[in-house]
Amino acid sequence: LSVGVVCEQFPGERRVALTPQNVALLLKKGFKQVWVENGAGFQSQFLDENYAAAGATMASRDQVYSSSDILLKVRAPLLDGGASHGPHEIDLIKNGSTLISFVYPAQNPELVKALKEKDVTLFAMDQVPRITRAQTFDALSSMANIAGYKAVLEASNVFGRFLTGQVTAAGKIPPTKILIIGAGVAGLSSLATARRMGAIVRCFDTRPAAREQVESLGGEFLEVSIKEDGTGVGGYAKTMSKEFIEAEMALFMEQCKEIDIIITTALIPGKPAPKLITKEMVAAMKQGSVIVDLAAEAGGNCEVTKPGQMIVHDGVSVIGYTDLPSRLPTQSSTLYSNNVTKYLLSMGTEDKKFRVDLEDEVVRRSIVTHKKELLWPAPVPPPP
Ligand code: NAD
Repeated sequence: LSVGVVCEQFPGERRVALTPQNVALLLKKGFKQVWVENGAGFQSQFLDENYAAAGATMASRDQVYSSSDILLKVRAPLLDGGASHGPHEIDLIKNGSTLISFVYPAQNPELVKALKEKDVTLFAMDQVPRITRAQTFDALSSMANIAGYKAVLEASNVFGRFLTGQVTAAGKIPPTKILIIGAGVAGLSSLATARRMGAIVRCFDTRPAAREQVESLGGEFLEVSIKEDGTGVGGYAKTMSKEFIEAEMALFMEQCKEIDIIITTALIPGKPAPKLITKEMVAAMKQGSVIVDLAAEAGGNCEVTKPGQMIVHDGVSVIGYTDLPSRLPTQSSTLYSNNVTKYLLSMGTEDKKFRVDLEDEVVRRSIVTHKKELLWPAPVPPPP
């Protein structure tokens, strides 16, 4: 069996799905050949010579697509040629091959249909269940960790002061105050990063379990007086009552008056992001404050966020970048590559009989199409 890696065609995408180190690992574990498109890792600092030294076969785009039994990608294939303006990615994929990639099947029904008709066995990295055994394949957490870290750096880049407090001969500098809304993987990563840079950090989450994690990382956990548990299925968040949302928004309005930087990460799987920061709250912030809206892709937690852009609203910089992992391409490619490689190897190799085992919970939940059938969404298992 051969594995293939191509240049990502999504405009602005700098990540690559497989690093040279994992090329060597796949070959060692028994895959016969790893095809890598010329220049695939260039933007994440992995050069063709590094891939060749790891044993990859460097080739043109067409050749990688037509030769690979298992194709690894970061972004779902585009229905058009993307940045290359060349042939459509979807048309290039070999009939009957396997593709492992981020897919977001609920948002991309056309893509799923096209791959099903091409008899592609499609695995969605974004559908890997968050069970203990699958932690090493959890690419969503890997990317959320990076996004949370980068959010703090993006904020500090446009913020006019230190994050840390200092006492200097020229005067005493107070530490910057940061509010993080949503203490999931990204929010906790922002918290840890901001604390390392010396900021004072406050966090809010609807899941009470977040308190202990926030406090263990040196953050202050904020609360509202209404008691409502926001823990939903599988530890994810659920939609909160109107009263609760109103109470948390009143809390944020108060906080906005003294907070310098807000990082919002509040998401509920499969729903538009809750709007928690209004225009009025932005106006209440001090001149030069910063908001980073990590929920921008799902519509944003802040009313004025423009997905993909940074704008200045009432003297406040509002960052709605949707490509934060790709802004740290070497790191995100390395972690994604580890996730995807471990996932692939969990299904075997040629020697170890690579096969699609629908009895395997991780496979069943993340497989989207197989043998021209739509297998997603997987049936919900009965409660234990
Ligand atoms: P996410 O990206 O889906 O959401 C971000 C956070 O926003 C969540 O913590 C959520 O509770 C919070 N939120 C939602 N609505 C909110 C509101 N109105 N106000 C404030 N906060 C709000 O979260 P995530 O990073 O995917 O993590 C969700 C859960 O999954 C956590 O419990 C996490 O520990 C768990 N998890 C488990 C594993 C594993 O076991 N392998 C891996 C990753 C995450």
